[in-house]
Amino acid sequence: MIPAIRGTHDILPGEIERWQRAEQVVRDVCERYGYREIRTPVIEREELFAKGTGETTDIVQKEMYAFEDKGGERVTLRPEATPSMVRAFVEHALEQRLPTVKIFSLGPMFRYERPQKGRYRQFHQLDVEVFGVADATLDAEVVEMAAALVDALGIDDAEVVLNSVGCAECRPGFSRALLAALGDRAADLCGDCRRRAAVNPLRIFDCKVPSCQPIVDALPHATDYLCDPCRSHFEATTALLKALDVDFRVSHRLVRGLDYYTRTTFEIRGGRLGAQNALLGGGRYDGLVRQLGGPDRAGIGFAAGMERLVLAMPEGPGPRAPDAFIVALGDAARQSAHRLARDLRRAGLTVLIDYGDRSMKAQLRRANRTSARHVLILGEDELARASVTVKHMASGGETLVGRQDVVRMLTADPASAEQPAPKRGLSVLADDEPEGGPGDVEQPAPKRRLRVPDTAV
Ligand code: AMP
Repeated sequence: MIPAIRGTHDILPGEIERWQRAEQVVRDVCERYGYREIRTPVIEREELFAKGTGETTDIVQKEMYAFEDKGGERVTLRPEATPSMVRAFVEHALEQRLPTVKIFSLGPMFRYERPQKGRYRQFHQLDVEVFGVADATLDAEVVEMAAALVDALGIDDAEVVLNSVGCAECRPGFSRALLAALGDRAADLCGDCRRRAAVNPLRIFDCKVPSCQPIVDALPHATDYLCDPCRSHFEATTALLKALDVDFRVSHRLVRGLDYYTRTTFEIRGGRLGAQNALLGGGRYDGLVRQLGGPDRAGIGFAAGMERLVLAMPEGPGPRAPDAFIVALGDAARQSAHRLARDLRRAGLTVLIDYGDRSMKAQLRRANRTSARHVLILGEDELARASVTVKHMASGGETLVGRQDVVRMLTADPASAEQPAPKRGLSVLADDEPEGGPGDVEQPAPKRRLRVPDTAV
């Protein structure tokens, strides 16, 4: 057996239903807020992330699945979606196609991180981005939408955390203030933090090493160093969030690990998730489009980890039970059974059937394991009478139904779990059944019948 690569995972039947539910909610919410879907390649030029995500980030320095392809080009599996979305925005001049460029994407990301619960090497993100709108009302709408998404997924213990990291004008002053406040204590920081202090002091706020915490907690707050435009932007954002009834907490430690953020940064954290508790995170990145060779356009967005959303969601209903399982005995009956399966499926029902020449008992056992609502039996008797025995599994009721009426009967009320098979008669003969057969008269099912075993094997 060749196992899956460490940090990757299969999503199996039984789990996939939660994913599908989450994806459906995601699509519904995105649509309601005016976002259009876009899909970009999972493989991109390495340079896009070096320039976009930032040379000094952990993602670019340590975590990319980057390699030289057979043509000698440096490429990478994408570690995040924002630079790809920016690339697509510029490459396809999306602002000429869409009145407001609000786009979302769902798909896998790749980071060579240390795997643990909620952290994988291949994981999936919902990515939501808006280009060309600098106004703070959008910041509030994006945060409100993220909160609405989490709510729509039934996650009720989430917390919205907000901060502003300023802009190119005011951030250098804040960085200097950080270094000044650190002073001699910089020598007591962990190795990572000392490195961060040299290249991007804001990143010190990301540190989780216990011995750094008292030092980090005592550092100045970014919101106290904002320039006037950044301060009014932050005030307008928080004022509208309050007006929209979004509960949030301002945390000066929320700087987020990427280089491109300006002004608003935010995260939504889930209470039950343990160490990896960020359900989603994002912010504004007003300089990134230009930095990646596009026009000078504002940008804002967030990325949500689908694994974490799925983990935090409450249990939902299981998969839908099949409408029918068809059991057939004998070659002629089998052919007829397959035609019946085809007709029922074309009529929109979920129908399973057994394959090969297995005993009635074996087929019924399998039928039982599928929890099908009805078992349809086609033996020699039924064939001779152009009929099918319909066993309603919930009630145990059994009726012989004319072949032609089976589709009508099951589609009329495919979920008729509580009702016994109707005692009504049948009219038209099936086109593959012999003329003159007794299929148009309702009859009791033949007596040899069939107890579906209680225990599944
Ligand atoms: P980021 O792109 O790092 O801002 O992450 C945005 C969201 O993606 C996080 O809040 C997580 O929910 C999710 N995420 C990031 N990295 C991983 C990972 N390695 N495994 C699973 N989910 C992740």
